[in-house]
Amino acid sequence: MHLPKASYPPPIMAHARMMDFPLTLTHLFDRARRYFPKGEVVSRLADGTLHRTTYGEIARRTLLLASGLSKLGVKKGDRVATLAWNHYRHLETYLAAPCMGATLHTLNLRLHPDEIGYIARHAEDQIVIVDHSLLPLLQKFRAHVPSIRKVIVMADGPGKAPDRPEASAELDYEAVIASGDPKYEFPEVGERDEAALCYTSGTTGNPKGVLYSHRSMTLHTLATTMVDSLGVGERDVVLPVVPMFHANAWGLPYACVATGAKLVFPGPKLDAESLLDLMVKEKVTLAGGVPTIWLGILAVLDAAPKKYDLTAMRTMLVGGSAAPAAMIDGFKKRHGIDILHAWGMTEMSPLGTICRIKNAVSDRDDAALLETKASQGFAAAFVETRHADDEGHVLPWDGATMGELEVRGPWVASSYVGDEGKDRWTKDGWFKTGDVVTIDSEGYVRICDRSKDVIKSGGEWISSVALENALMAHPAVLEAAVFAAHHEKWSERPVAAVVLKKDQRATKEELAKHLEGSVSKIWLPDAYVFVDQIPRTSTGKFLKSKLRATYGDILTKK
Ligand code: AMP
Repeated sequence: MHLPKASYPPPIMAHARMMDFPLTLTHLFDRARRYFPKGEVVSRLADGTLHRTTYGEIARRTLLLASGLSKLGVKKGDRVATLAWNHYRHLETYLAAPCMGATLHTLNLRLHPDEIGYIARHAEDQIVIVDHSLLPLLQKFRAHVPSIRKVIVMADGPGKAPDRPEASAELDYEAVIASGDPKYEFPEVGERDEAALCYTSGTTGNPKGVLYSHRSMTLHTLATTMVDSLGVGERDVVLPVVPMFHANAWGLPYACVATGAKLVFPGPKLDAESLLDLMVKEKVTLAGGVPTIWLGILAVLDAAPKKYDLTAMRTMLVGGSAAPAAMIDGFKKRHGIDILHAWGMTEMSPLGTICRIKNAVSDRDDAALLETKASQGFAAAFVETRHADDEGHVLPWDGATMGELEVRGPWVASSYVGDEGKDRWTKDGWFKTGDVVTIDSEGYVRICDRSKDVIKSGGEWISSVALENALMAHPAVLEAAVFAAHHEKWSERPVAAVVLKKDQRATKEELAKHLEGSVSKIWLPDAYVFVDQIPRTSTGKFLKSKLRATYGDILTKK
């Protein structure tokens, strides 16, 4: 395969005669304002209101917000943080901060307050725009972040937030908008200027800051709208279930602004019934979230198959962790819904690979096709992938050899804020993802594990993801997470934590028998623990470090 040699930055050859037009989010904002002013934005707010507005109104308010913020002294390069659920005011901040030359910093409200405090301090956040319902959380860390000079409160309903006489330094979001100059227009920003900042979820070590530019975000937006990518277009009704603090809701809000697609924000109510209710009411065509969300939705649909009319839905986008094959199959066979599996990282804005079925693989039999759909797919345009062994040797695309996935592209981070974690980049400029993968001859990437989760049993590497996939195909299993436990002879052996579906039963022996058909005998877990819930990270992934801490000695204690 042809891989161009790394040479960054490339030499400038000034022969071409094209305009050097900046790739900025401001252009996408202007597009929505000019061409899609009637495009709808629907939000279910924390107080239960189903709020409706348009891109025209959002654009008007965004400019006022930016003007109000500049009157408060916000200037180029300042960090404007948000601590908020998904809703239209959050979208206004998504647009106002970068387009006025400041940097949007989405704080993850599911982290421990000490951790949010660490991140806000590290980022030197100056302004925090916070949901009223999340003020108690902000209060837990605000005192530890000396850089914060203003707090702006967004009401939980459409009006103003209730006055809090004890907090006279806080401003109401609507009052900041009211203070804005109606004649305000955005200043010019450069395409390489900072636009947004997100921290990695940091399950190992401190969270690290990823600083996106206007250029990287604009190119990422274009990539998400390509037909064979997520294909977001004006005809779509998009429901980002993925939080706006998780890698910019995977770029979905910007993709909608760029194309005029209707946006539906779920607010804080993320249970399966509430989401299904929104999908039906608003005729959602594309919804994106982590597998745990879809597993919950599948269980509700299975229990009441006729209750929800999802005929408008064209794709459910799943990423963040591996989509189990049984879930993909269940949605398609039982409910006629296509799952689109994608892989990405905060460091990649986040889109990396998308699992589209190429012509070259479309004649595979049903079982092989399902296997392919459960892989993470091949690289999005402008993303390049390769995998390498521990010594850095690039490995063959044979669908069998495991190695660490490395990537590069215009929306892949080139370093972290403060130059932390420099060892994540190879000498020739690729980002080391920490994901252990195989790549097949068609370029389909299959994630076997995070490098820290792969189970090293003797000389063998066992893929916990493959075991989880196989376990979740058992009809009684709702969720399964496989992790490494200490073993005297083999160093590590797999152990499965299993959540059974309501009113269903399965014994360890039955699960082992079920697995025998699909994985090699030496991969079979040495033990099974039945739990009520698998512990989760702040972004809804299985928290295997917690399982290891709780059950890591289960085999040696026997
Ligand atoms: P984050 O930066 O929080 O989005 O986490 C990125 C990590 O999530 C990746 O490095 C993967 O380990 C994992 N991940 C994301 N998407 C998938 C997927 N489709 N399948 C398996 N793992 C995934």
